[in-house]
Amino acid sequence: MTLHEDLEAIYQDVIRRNPGEAEFHQAVKEVLGSLGPVVAKFPEFASERIIERICEPERQIIFRVPWQDDRGNVQINRGFRVEFNSALGPYKGGLRFHPSVYLGIIKFLGFEQIFKNSLTGMPIGGGKGGSDFDPKGRSDGEIMRFCQSFMTELYRHLGEYTDVPAGDIGVGGREIGYMFGQYKRITNRYEAGVLTGKALIIGGSKVRTEATGYGCTFFVNEMLRTREQSFEGKRVLVSGSGNVAIYTLEKVRQLGGKVVAMSDSGGVIYDANGIDLDLIKEIKEVERKRISVYAERCSSSKYLAHGNIWDIPCDVAMPSATQNEITGRDAETLVRNGCIAVGEGANMPTTPEGVEVFLQAGILYGPGKAANAGGVATSALEMQQNAQRDAWKFEETERRLQEIMRGIHETCVHAAEEFGTPGNLVNGANIAGFMKVAQAMLAQGLI
Ligand code: GLU
Repeated sequence: MTLHEDLEAIYQDVIRRNPGEAEFHQAVKEVLGSLGPVVAKFPEFASERIIERICEPERQIIFRVPWQDDRGNVQINRGFRVEFNSALGPYKGGLRFHPSVYLGIIKFLGFEQIFKNSLTGMPIGGGKGGSDFDPKGRSDGEIMRFCQSFMTELYRHLGEYTDVPAGDIGVGGREIGYMFGQYKRITNRYEAGVLTGKALIIGGSKVRTEATGYGCTFFVNEMLRTREQSFEGKRVLVSGSGNVAIYTLEKVRQLGGKVVAMSDSGGVIYDANGIDLDLIKEIKEVERKRISVYAERCSSSKYLAHGNIWDIPCDVAMPSATQNEITGRDAETLVRNGCIAVGEGANMPTTPEGVEVFLQAGILYGPGKAANAGGVATSALEMQQNAQRDAWKFEETERRLQEIMRGIHETCVHAAEEFGTPGNLVNGANIAGFMKVAQAMLAQGLI
């Protein structure tokens, strides 16, 4: 992808100032790749150096997280919180606990989050955090002690009007609960709105657990509708087997589609009859086991150790595992096998080469910052409920989520059209997300 001349200079500067952060560079380049027509139309963005400002986080926090494992050994991890942009509201974005986490991953996620959160239409800025802590195989006690130590530093940077974390890979309701408890002990405040993704009993929102998967499925459904299609009878691949993947499966099934494969870092499960939702929930949510266990218990399924899920023929692909999981070659395979729509439940799951293949092929392609915005949008609904000291019903909350996803889709379609690339939702999402943030920054003077 070649960038507009001024944008190329900005991009080179980002590379120079942030050495070794490949994923951050990739995320920046993808957004700048859409902004050529925007800077041409709005010269004030260049003269006010809005893009350079957006590429520089407002604040970056890196800290030591010491904790003791079950054998009494001292462990040390690194904690991060990148408070990227607060033009639209308090910093908002999840925490990722995974051994691959380093500053470049958190910055890519935080950068994406700015535009994603803007697209939701809710008053939330962008941020992200996490740690290189590996929760795999850790006991409940170890998870709790790690979360408490993590929050013992992070609490001073948070607040319902300041910065509101939630979950991401490796962080779910259990971890959020431990962190909330520690925040409350230190501050002596029951400040429900300081974290989202809480369990219902401590001020969480209905539908938050389901929101990213449901939202992504709603988004793909909107895309399909533009071509007089639906999920009815479609074979769907959903990579991953975490929270996003499981609730994508649930909603796809409700809409008449069939999820024939899922995966984890060890391999792929395939079942031509459709993956059994209750069994996968039992194995992943209750027992917290690997996906291979599914194949042991379900005779109609096959386990493909180290298999590539994208080799399986499908109508719709919904990558819901992690960044860069669909390469250029995978994208070619999907298109060749007849895939007509891709909706990204994960953040930046498709490499730039893969994105190019989807756009060239003219299939429906919903980039993560639009398609997976339902999670953070429902977090914003949780903040609303906390502020009102209220709790909405499941149906009401889901209705709002669906409306938000429709709105995001429409916004992206319009922006893509207005700026000369109809149907290109990558441009649509980047432009629409950027415009709101840029205007909010201009309105606040030099920030
Ligand atoms: N981690 C999720 C995301 O990537 C959710 C963030 C949130 O709810 O704050 O958008």
